[in-house]
Amino acid sequence: MTRIGVLTGDGIGLEIVPSAIAVANAAARAESAEFDWLELPFGRSAINSHGTPVPEETLLALDDLDIWVLGPHDSAGYPAEHAGRTPGAVIRKRYGLFANLRPARAFPGVHATSRAIDLLIARENTEGLYADRNMVAGSGEFMPTPDIAMAVGVITRQATERIARVAFDAARQRKHRVTIVHKANVLTMTTGLFRDVCREVAADYSDVIVDEQHVDAMAAHLVRRAGDFDVVVTENLFGDILSDLAGELAGSLGMAASVNCSDTKVMAQAAHGAAPDIAGRGLANPVAMILSTAMAFRRHGLATTDSAMVAVAGRMEAAVADTLAASVATADLGGTATTTEFTAAVVERV
Ligand code: ATP
Repeated sequence: MTRIGVLTGDGIGLEIVPSAIAVANAAARAESAEFDWLELPFGRSAINSHGTPVPEETLLALDDLDIWVLGPHDSAGYPAEHAGRTPGAVIRKRYGLFANLRPARAFPGVHATSRAIDLLIARENTEGLYADRNMVAGSGEFMPTPDIAMAVGVITRQATERIARVAFDAARQRKHRVTIVHKANVLTMTTGLFRDVCREVAADYSDVIVDEQHVDAMAAHLVRRAGDFDVVVTENLFGDILSDLAGELAGSLGMAASVNCSDTKVMAQAAHGAAPDIAGRGLANPVAMILSTAMAFRRHGLATTDSAMVAVAGRMEAAVADTLAASVATADLGGTATTTEFTAAVVERV
């Protein structure tokens, strides 16, 4: 029996995480797989119960797990004493979850700006300009005077090489194309190093076609011809922005699945946030959370040669696709289904 951590989080997390679990359990029953869900304190409710959004007991439990589901957190809304590294970043850093894999695909039945989009963004997750994770101590952002703010961006050979290998390995399972996205015409040393190391890794993958784009041009190309791209490898900030763009091109941010992973651990985490503007009203689209969970299952199942877990992932994805194809959709996609109604429709199709 696979033990899976559950960190429900804040805002729409309270709606979409139970939805993902319901779909996973239905698929598990159909595939005779068994999961042991371990609910762990996290987010605003953990501030209330434990005085911190990421309690020690949660981290100690995660130390022993290889797979968990992380709901979105609304850390911007936490009391000031909890400002600093975000709860998600604390976890990504502790477990070295260096690869953030974010697919964007237009499903039949969904009105997508780009009908042809079917790509995977492989985003480096540990450095770049993200001040909450690129330092051992202190912050990569600082203010020498009240009127001057500075940020340090970090790019290393080691971190670039490992995300590049994940990207090229993923391309081998897809359409054998990788686009390296950088801004080496301006950030010549930092994103120049990123580009150069990706090129070096590319030399080991002669079966994969490689091209390159500056990040600004890439944004324009995605809007115009997203269907031409397969795997996109890029640094942290660029990947964060491009994946929101890709998610919207595929229909809605509510469709934007993702996993954060190391070589041994995988965390399902939707690419979107806690959406406090719609929380608690049954308006949240659970697709991103369901597909993130399925992605995590597939990755964990392949890593542990657990074919039932891979089959569960496939069943979850197929049920979501069937539901959307039947024009059952939440409000962000122009539909009328509540989160609960959409979830029930997916469970029925599982
Ligand atoms: P974060 O920085 O934590 O990612 P954010 O500020 O980027 O958060 P989100 O919480 O992702 O913002 O929300 C952005 C917009 O997308 C909001 O209008 C929100 O309602 C909408 N949105 C996000 N996720 C969903 C979802 N699952 N279903 C429907 N709408 C969503």
